[in-house]
Amino acid sequence: MQAKYQELKTRLIEVNDINSALGLLHWDQSTYMPPGGAAARARQSATLSRIAHEKFTDPAIGKLLDALTPYEQSLDYDSDEASLIRVTRRKYERAIKIPSEFMAEVSTHISELYQVWTEARPANDFERVRPYLEKTLEYSRKSANFFPGYDHIADPLIEPRDYGMKAADVSHVFGELRKELVPIASVITSQPPVDDSCLHKHFPEEKQLKFGMDVAKKFGYDLSRGRQDKTHHPFMTKFSLGDVRITTRSKEDSLGEALFCTMHETGHALYEQGICMGYEGTPLARGTSAGVHESQSRLWENIVGRSKGFWKCFYPQLQNIFPEQLNSVELDTFHRAINKVERSLIRTEADEVTYNLHVMLRFDFELALLEGEMEIKDLPDAWRERFQEDFGIVPPDHKDGVLQDVHWYSGLIGGSFQGYTLGNILGAQFYATALKAHPEITEEIEKGEFNTLHNWLKNNIYQHGSKFTAPEIIERATGQSLTIEPYINYLRTKYGELYSLN
Ligand code: ZN
Repeated sequence: MQAKYQELKTRLIEVNDINSALGLLHWDQSTYMPPGGAAARARQSATLSRIAHEKFTDPAIGKLLDALTPYEQSLDYDSDEASLIRVTRRKYERAIKIPSEFMAEVSTHISELYQVWTEARPANDFERVRPYLEKTLEYSRKSANFFPGYDHIADPLIEPRDYGMKAADVSHVFGELRKELVPIASVITSQPPVDDSCLHKHFPEEKQLKFGMDVAKKFGYDLSRGRQDKTHHPFMTKFSLGDVRITTRSKEDSLGEALFCTMHETGHALYEQGICMGYEGTPLARGTSAGVHESQSRLWENIVGRSKGFWKCFYPQLQNIFPEQLNSVELDTFHRAINKVERSLIRTEADEVTYNLHVMLRFDFELALLEGEMEIKDLPDAWRERFQEDFGIVPPDHKDGVLQDVHWYSGLIGGSFQGYTLGNILGAQFYATALKAHPEITEEIEKGEFNTLHNWLKNNIYQHGSKFTAPEIIERATGQSLTIEPYINYLRTKYGELYSLN
């Protein structure tokens, strides 16, 4: 049995190596590649993803999994070996349903679309991406239909990102959250806007980036296994457990941009860097779901990084870096500015209160597009209408409307957004549990110390990688299933201090 297990592992590591090379090509495309490289890069990516898919769906892997079933059953559910076999089988059974040629076709299409989008967005030109997007929707439906028997056509598309959640579950949770959020958002946005002019002076990029990295290191980001580069749409990527990279973007007239991007991506990176080293190269060596991943980026960015306690320690340091800009600005003023709630256009720049409304819009649109209730050509108008309804404002252009997010221009339509809001909910649920176990975390954050929190997260979430599903991790870490209560409590408490909520 040991020999068969080793053979399985060797084959999986080979697949992983190809996927890591693919990841490196994507990272390069999003950071340093000149535009002239686009066509060849699309082909190269397609070639590698085809090879990886073929290797992973090799019937030999199916045979090994079958042969290893008795071994798996003889082991504890929690053991690394049983978990590797179990998780691999789940992914294998999904992967063999998608033909390699289809994967390659989609990959070529998406690389082209991504390149078109990087030009169409600044040009505010939805028509340029429309035909590509129509093709993407076709591919998305086709992809779902490789998994007949679903309850909702979005289910098979949600599954690889948030295994254990179906469209109906997500819609239910979002409905509950919406009931709580809409009144809070509307009572806050009807109050006089917070003055955040202190964030919009001139802040030289280099100093911003350095401060961001100092914070990332304090959070626990290990730079001997990581680095940061600039990109259009920030992301975290991993080539191995020893090379977990983040990206950011900056604006010299906006202090929050680079800093909170860095904190966000650092949260993702801490998760990946915290995975048990023994899982290296296997399907266990990655975060378990989009929602749990996002819970970590949002926890570090918002719950920690936008808290008063954090800035009690870090604001004086920031003032030292930007004395002219910030010396006359009180901590309270700064703290209110970085937590300003407003009706805004851009999801990634939205505050914690309105953010989820942006996500719900996209999630609902994905369902409608997949169901055939909405067509791609209807997107810009539908976007404007829904925006008016939810935010009371209308995007003046496509650039900051339907063209703003990279997701539909770099992947399939369906399953790409729910993880953000699930992450907000889960971040608060995990944090509340950590705090119950270690009430000293609050004081430590005020001293710029994050070890207790980081260790709790590592022990309860990070180290397990993909060993457990998201529902299992939530249950094990918090003792209950996903609940919106801690998140609502968090928002009410925090924003009740910053605004009048009655
Ligand atoms: Zn994220």
